Amino acid sequence: MSVEQAPVQRADFDQVMVPNYAPAAFIPVRGAGSRVWDQSGRELIDFAGGIAVNVLGHAHPALVGALTEQANKLWHVSNVFTNEPALRLAHKLVDATFADRAFFCNSGAEANEAAFKLARRVAHDRFGAQKHEIIATVNSFHGRTLFTVSVGGQPKYSDGFGPKITGISHVPYNDLEALKAQISDKTCAVVIEPIQGESGVVPADVAYLQGARELCDKHNALLIFDEVQTGVGRTGSLFAYQHYGVTPDILSSAKSLGGGFPIGAMLTTEDLAKHLAVGTHGTTYGGNPLACAVANAVLDVVNTPEVLAGVTAKHQRFKARLEKIGQQYGLFSQVRGIGLLIGCVLTDAWKGKAKDVFNAAEKEGLMVLQAGPDVVRFAPSLVVEDADIDEGLDRFERAAAKLTQA
Ligand SMILES: *Cc1c(COP(=O)(O)O)cnc(C)c1O
Repeated sequence: MSVEQAPVQRADFDQVMVPNYAPAAFIPVRGAGSRVWDQSGRELIDFAGGIAVNVLGHAHPALVGALTEQANKLWHVSNVFTNEPALRLAHKLVDATFADRAFFCNSGAEANEAAFKLARRVAHDRFGAQKHEIIATVNSFHGRTLFTVSVGGQPKYSDGFGPKITGISHVPYNDLEALKAQISDKTCAVVIEPIQGESGVVPADVAYLQGARELCDKHNALLIFDEVQTGVGRTGSLFAYQHYGVTPDILSSAKSLGGGFPIGAMLTTEDLAKHLAVGTHGTTYGGNPLACAVANAVLDVVNTPEVLAGVTAKHQRFKARLEKIGQQYGLFSQVRGIGLLIGCVLTDAWKGKAKDVFNAAEKEGLMVLQAGPDVVRFAPSLVVEDADIDEGLDRFERAAAKLTQA
């Protein structure tokens, strides 16, 4: 039985919500696969994927099934008790990766918070208080808690909130010499996104990640890969570290892991995990049965040769057409990225105008993303139908044509 709800509109946002977001003018109310419908019944194609989250599109039957089955059984017990979906999910992640141990939480920021706290704890236990420095990269993004904005390499997110977490430095991304110059025996961890997502879809060079691994080993520092955006099939491998063949000590995952249900995970080795002994860290909801039941279903579908190979094939389909559109309308200087995390770099003439492209696409019934002001980002479902890719890119081409002739 459904209860009659009061009508709401986009204008309500400005009256009752904290103004830290600027959502689009329409309100999505329903989704199926890679299509979304708004309040007026208008249909849009979704190449945004809820910011690299809706890894199986909207209302995927396997995820709806897992969620409703679990919803009828057990929602929450806290970590005073463990639960079956959490244990099954941990087994799956451990079996599929370098890791021996999993810690569950509710978001990417929390997964990184756990990763950074673990790295500092390990260094503290093994070497003493002086070994606490974290090296991150310029323009990196690791979340919005105070620790994660302090580690993140974008001062606009960390300035103006009082004293930051100290002992953190930032070196240019993909610059091994800069990392070499900064790292020392006081370094407890180096944290890298295998592809910088938020700041423009910038993939790491293989040699950079390999070199970072060697430098960390030399200085007894831990290598942390923030795979919140690149993980769970996005690159065509289950995790990007497998694509690159460089193994971290700690890995953070979130976004696609829950396919739209909030969950985060920190993965690590047994040797490191033991430093987070009983009582050192925790969260009430972490490993929640509903979230873990959905994540189990996500992994069952995504971690298959068909879906992962499909990501690489769909990358080619996107890239070829986007390069063509970019050239024809003088919009893009480069189309980059791996798998279904694709960034189109705007030409000098369109620099700073990613928002205009976003708006033009929306008018044609297409949801895309920005990655900073100079890059248009695509992070669709990994199982987006080829027909939806083609139709969505037709809409994108119409948007590009109208935008550039205006
Ligand atoms: C989105 C993102 C985060 C933060 O995740 P939240 O779930 O928003 O806290 C951290 N790191 C990277 C690389 C991300 O893309």
